[in-house]
Amino acid sequence: MLGLMQDWPLTVDKVIDHAKANFPRREVVTRSTDGPIVRSSYATVWDHARRATNALKARGVGLGDRVATLAWSTDRHMEVWYGAMNMGAVLHTVNPRLFPEQIAWIINHAEDKVLFLDSTFLPIVEGIAASIPTVKHFVLLSGDPKQSKLPGVIGYEQFLEGQSTEAAWGGFDEHTAAGLCYTSGTTGDPKGVLYSHRSNILHAMMANQTDGFGCGAADHVMPIAPMFHANAWAISFVAPMCGAKLVMPGPKLDGANLYELIEGEGVTFIAGVPTVQLALLNHVRDNGLKFSALRRVAVGGSAIPEAVLRAYEDDYGVEVIHAWGMTEMSPIGTFGKLHPEHQKLSHDDRIKAKLKQGRAPFGVELKITDDEGKLKPHNGKDFGRLMVRGPAVAKAYFKNAGAKNERGECLQPCGFFDTGDVATIDELGIMQITDRAKDVIKSGGEWISSIDIENIAVGADGVACAAVIGVYHPKWDERPLLIVEPKPGANPTREHMLAALNGKIAKWWTPDDVVFVEKIPLGATGKINKLALREMFKDYKLPTAQAAEKIT
Ligand code: AMP
Repeated sequence: MLGLMQDWPLTVDKVIDHAKANFPRREVVTRSTDGPIVRSSYATVWDHARRATNALKARGVGLGDRVATLAWSTDRHMEVWYGAMNMGAVLHTVNPRLFPEQIAWIINHAEDKVLFLDSTFLPIVEGIAASIPTVKHFVLLSGDPKQSKLPGVIGYEQFLEGQSTEAAWGGFDEHTAAGLCYTSGTTGDPKGVLYSHRSNILHAMMANQTDGFGCGAADHVMPIAPMFHANAWAISFVAPMCGAKLVMPGPKLDGANLYELIEGEGVTFIAGVPTVQLALLNHVRDNGLKFSALRRVAVGGSAIPEAVLRAYEDDYGVEVIHAWGMTEMSPIGTFGKLHPEHQKLSHDDRIKAKLKQGRAPFGVELKITDDEGKLKPHNGKDFGRLMVRGPAVAKAYFKNAGAKNERGECLQPCGFFDTGDVATIDELGIMQITDRAKDVIKSGGEWISSIDIENIAVGADGVACAAVIGVYHPKWDERPLLIVEPKPGANPTREHMLAALNGKIAKWWTPDDVVFVEKIPLGATGKINKLALREMFKDYKLPTAQAAEKIT
């Protein structure tokens, strides 16, 4: 027997319709790519999105067609986002930090018909325009189209000009594709994650549970994670759903500009990767500043360094929500909110508990297995491959790319997605990442977690960034090498770094050597680029390796 409730397809047009109906005057504030701060509202975003739908239709875009953006997080990006998705087209956010050849590859793979771009990315697009033949229309979201050499490029105002706000939104199956985002995978070709309307809605509701982002109409929300990094972690849906004021940082993601917006707009909640959080905290500390309205900060994308957690919570009274996830999960997988049991712990133990990636919100299932797929116990000690399942988890990649891994194994054994992360899960369901499967350092048959060492090293005095990679060792196969980027003007030494680790990690985890570099390379989403580091140090000879070679 079926229930007798109304059919209300979960399509994202309803999100911005809801914001227009309930929070029309709530502000959407953008630091525009052209410079000035622009004040808009959900009613205006709705109005422009309706016009954008009609303008796309007039250019031949229909259900299922891909529309690309190479753009910062701005009100205009939101308008195009809803304008395309709401008519059943697929909004493809392209990550501008990739190499131009990768960008061209991705656009061709997606067969994008229209490309919206910010002026910042004109040089990239002018360089690849001849090699992306599916793109028939270029629309500039900022800057002056007259200054551009792109064929037929028009400005955003011209694009919307004369279009009506009478537009047909929704009316299709909730499983219809809504968004496309390619993973910045470090091996093989990028793979497209194709979000559906239903997955986006369910994910946004999951992400904004009280023990997650927990945002409401009184919040002023600023996603620092860009819209091209997994939907700005759902905030482009969450904010209009709950009526929060939305503050978009545009292109200026440095500490000083972020701080100015946070204070100027009374921001209560931000979300971003640890590297940008560090830049923000350094700016605040170096200038003796404080946060006057900021209450909560979501940190994810890579493990939160202890120093970031302590600075926010202990020095500035800002609650940290450590989040783990991935593009394939829309992206939220866990939140590091503590259980009531944890309130009994000492302050230091609570901090330790918060460094873990946390528990799954309703809508995500987690388990760990060995390499053969056999379940490993959830006892907080055994670690294994982290597998996930839920309504906002990818079941395949766009055009079925990479359905199998290098060993020819299916990526979805028993309906679970293999995250490629290695983790423990404890009796309370709290998950802790111990490494990426490919970053684990395999020393004498045992595994060493690079992340654990990095988190401690980055908290040592004079350290701006730290990374640990496995380097060849004749006796142990691999041993850890600690790579340190000192803060400007600081001169941490090898002894200082090893002393900072002493007693905090197992003795045999101690790096065999420490090297100092001017800059640790970051990848396209602001995370440490381990692949580049491994390449840089591929011929590196550890002093212990030389000694072992002499003995054998
Ligand atoms: P991406 O899809 O580019 O966001 O990358 C997802 C990967 O980032 C995950 O599979 C993890 O390896 C890593 N990651 C994300 N959040 C965290 C976190 N809080 N702690 C440790 N690793 C993380």
